[in-house]
Amino acid sequence: MSGGLSARYLASGESRYVVLPKAPRCVYCKAYKFYRETVNFCCSAGAVSLAETVLPEYLVGLLIGRDADSREFHDMIRTHKNHFAL
Ligand SMILES: [Zn+2]
Repeated sequence: MSGGLSARYLASGESRYVVLPKAPRCVYCKAYKFYRETVNFCCSAGAVSLAETVLPEYLVGLLIGRDADSREFHDMIRTHKNHFAL
């Protein structure tokens, strides 16, 4: 179960954080949900299922490695992401 923080803005313009009540995980896709998210929010009550994908070993190496290629990948990860953005 997950809860969360939410900013509540007061009439005075100040804000304070409150802890949201915990929400149950989706019974269909096991997604963590926020308080008051509906059953249709993540997977339309099980109507939509995502294909499982396998991350190529080369990318795993770039993500968790400590060699020069991995360091360059981490330093430039935002640039790499932008190259593949649609
Ligand atoms: Zn779901």
